[in-house]
Amino acid sequence: SPEQMTKYQKIESLVKGFKLPSATYRQVMMLWREEMKNGLKKRTNPTADIKMFPSFVRSLPDGTEHGKFLALDLGGTNFRVLLVELDGPLVDIESKTYLIPQQVMLGTGEQLFDHVAHCVANFISKHGLEREPTLNLGFTFSFPLMQDGLASARLSKWTKGFRCEGVIGKDVCLLLKQALQKCTHVDINVVAVINDAVGTLMSAAHSDRNCEIGLILGTGCNACYMEKLDEVETIELDDGGPNQVIINTEWGAFGDNGCLDFVRTEYDRELDTYSINPGKQLVEKMIGGMYLGEIVRLTLERLTSEGLIFQGVDPECDLFNRGKFYTKYLSEIESDRGEFFENTKMILEEIGIETYTLEDCKIVKYVCALVSARASFLVSAGIATLINCLKRPEVTVAVDGSLYRFHPRFHNLMSLKIYELVEPAYKFKLALSHDGSGKGAALVAAVTTHMK
Ligand code: ADP
Repeated sequence: SPEQMTKYQKIESLVKGFKLPSATYRQVMMLWREEMKNGLKKRTNPTADIKMFPSFVRSLPDGTEHGKFLALDLGGTNFRVLLVELDGPLVDIESKTYLIPQQVMLGTGEQLFDHVAHCVANFISKHGLEREPTLNLGFTFSFPLMQDGLASARLSKWTKGFRCEGVIGKDVCLLLKQALQKCTHVDINVVAVINDAVGTLMSAAHSDRNCEIGLILGTGCNACYMEKLDEVETIELDDGGPNQVIINTEWGAFGDNGCLDFVRTEYDRELDTYSINPGKQLVEKMIGGMYLGEIVRLTLERLTSEGLIFQGVDPECDLFNRGKFYTKYLSEIESDRGEFFENTKMILEEIGIETYTLEDCKIVKYVCALVSARASFLVSAGIATLINCLKRPEVTVAVDGSLYRFHPRFHNLMSLKIYELVEPAYKFKLALSHDGSGKGAALVAAVTTHMK
């Protein structure tokens, strides 16, 4: 009916910003490439949004590494301590997850590192490691770091909900060492600090020689890759070592200069305004797991206020509360098959929507699909840009993070989009990487202490 037509046209007009044509993604790729180049050049790096931090990791594992290592994984939802034993292709991991209380995430840096050191001490006694002469430790710290060496790196800024006082500009390895010394008598040698993207790349490269890109799709979004030293102007490394270094792009900040404003929607703007870091990490805010649920919520809120869905809904329900629509809902809703919408209904009831029609369910699923497709296409544009720059006939992209792992369509959407965007000469593969931040950190420790 004409009435229905106008309703769907209204909905369409409120969500069309999520549907971007291929030409737009190609434009985004050009900007992305430009900004990554700027990050690598000495002259343009200070003002570039994508910082392209050299990781000081110069070689990938070859599967012959061995030894026993501690690893720490800090920088996401959970904090983990791991014991990793490498023996050629065999890897044995024992780990324990510790909670980081909200007041520690938003407290002082000293509190944070004391908490971390306490957890390490707890882990060491639980695993009877007190008698080890020295323990080599690889530290996965997944925030933007300005690396001064493999085991020396200053925090450039907090992201992903952390905001501990007095850490920005400080060497996080030193803070860790000092806290460890207070807490345990075991001799712990902090041999490397890396981020989760580098860990993911290392972990997958252990058994795949084509692996040269690491990608994180979890709370946030970040990527790293192996770059030729000649292309990297921001460090001097003519020590006779390998002529390459892993670059941690920190590309989540892409768009912070406004260059992506032409693809951002009113919902992206509102999300940013109410975030703890307005104006920052703009591309990450369109891709990362911390944000997709909220983008959907803001869109549904708008459709509701226009009277297009959820007629008569309780204005006090969680649909109208920031942060109450989780990204895992997108996975569950998009997993619904057929006309019954079991998951969708359950989630709507969970957030306090009692009266909904089957049509409402369809629209909710449609909005989720649009938001996750845009996220997967944007990150594909970034990956396709890297693949085109690498110019290798075959490359494996190691991917980790709950968004990629659990979303039912992310892998396929990305494969299709990257295929469309890369130059046809280059073959690529997206491979789920396991235990990046644990096994990866141990591998870096192994490769750099030459424990072969
Ligand atoms: P981190 O990136 O913090 O190390 P994860 O990789 O587990 O940790 O990512 C956490 C993010 O993944 C959260 O923002 C959460 O919203 C999102 N997430 C968790 N479960 C799912 C799921 N089933 N589907 C999609 N996203 C999810």
